Amino acid sequence: MPLSKLLLLYTLVILVGGLLLLLVDKLWMSNHNWHLSRSKLLTCSKCGNIFQLPRQSVDRRCPQCGGKTQPFQMPYSGLHETLKDRARNLKES
Ligand SMILES: [Zn+2]
Repeated sequence: MPLSKLLLLYTLVILVGGLLLLLVDKLWMSNHNWHLSRSKLLTCSKCGNIFQLPRQSVDRRCPQCGGKTQPFQMPYSGLHETLKDRARNLKES
């Protein structure tokens, strides 16, 4: 087999392999890269139940106790404040 045919075959294999990787990556991203809607994730203020509101549902009451709900918020850990203080101290010194 001449060298030019080997180089052509090598180039084709690399191009087709790259296209296949790109296709697999696109399929993986479309299947796995999704997020919960923050406006639909609710917390019951009465019993603390966290639930996701079903699509096209307008009833925002808690499915367990029927209590009033509010948008879900991540629990406060204080870690951000600690990091802010450290950054502030680094700037000042
Ligand atoms: Zn509840």
